[in-house]
Amino acid sequence: MSAVATLPAPTGIQTAMARPRVLIIEDERDMTSVLSYNLQREGYEVVVAYDGQEGLRKAQMQIPDLILLDLMLPKMDGLEVCRELRGGERTRTVPILMLTAKAEETDQVVGFTMGADDYVTKPFNVKVLMQRIKALLRRVEQSAEPSDVIEHLGVRIDRVRHKASIKGKDLDLTPTEFRLLECMLRQPGRAFTRPQLMDVAIGEGAIVLERTIDVHIKTLRRKLGGEQEFIETVRGVGYRFKEGKS
Ligand code: CA
Repeated sequence: MSAVATLPAPTGIQTAMARPRVLIIEDERDMTSVLSYNLQREGYEVVVAYDGQEGLRKAQMQIPDLILLDLMLPKMDGLEVCRELRGGERTRTVPILMLTAKAEETDQVVGFTMGADDYVTKPFNVKVLMQRIKALLRRVEQSAEPSDVIEHLGVRIDRVRHKASIKGKDLDLTPTEFRLLECMLRQPGRAFTRPQLMDVAIGEGAIVLERTIDVHIKTLRRKLGGEQEFIETVRGVGYRFKEGKS
């Protein structure tokens, strides 16, 4: 038997942790009150903005842990806000969950392409939305401190040694292929757009030729051999690394 006294188990999940701050940018007041109520009940700190400009300003000043962003907004629409956030030094990594209406189906894809991390279609089930928020925050948390070795489905990358392998067999990758694989492998299941992957592949500020990414992906798949289906095509968006064994 151990002589060390055990501390009582914490009563709430958020006990010792700072409450994650969620910024809601949405002009429908009914919606913001429902969202605020539910988020606060789940232990989040909530900040609300009722138009795009206000939302952008609050995001820049307070740097939330997550942003719920409506697509149709007065003064500055959701896509514009998203673009501004992604272009900002301090806001570019803040996860964005977009709220869209059913009729804006095509815009969903646009929103995704513009850099939103996830989206939910209105009308939505609040419980489902809360789960998506939780999942998104968890995903970001896991990728916050890049580890030197990543492994998923038998594909392994060692950043320090600059080595990649699959089921213990070395992969001979070009630096570009290596960076692409590392990027996707860090967040399995997350869809990356071609421009996002190009940034990863050749660094920011370079001229983006979206189609060249397809060529790199093609050779990367070939090198994965029997496991080339690990890199999945996301129609109208780009690519992602397979999330789990199907
Ligand atoms: Ca709206």
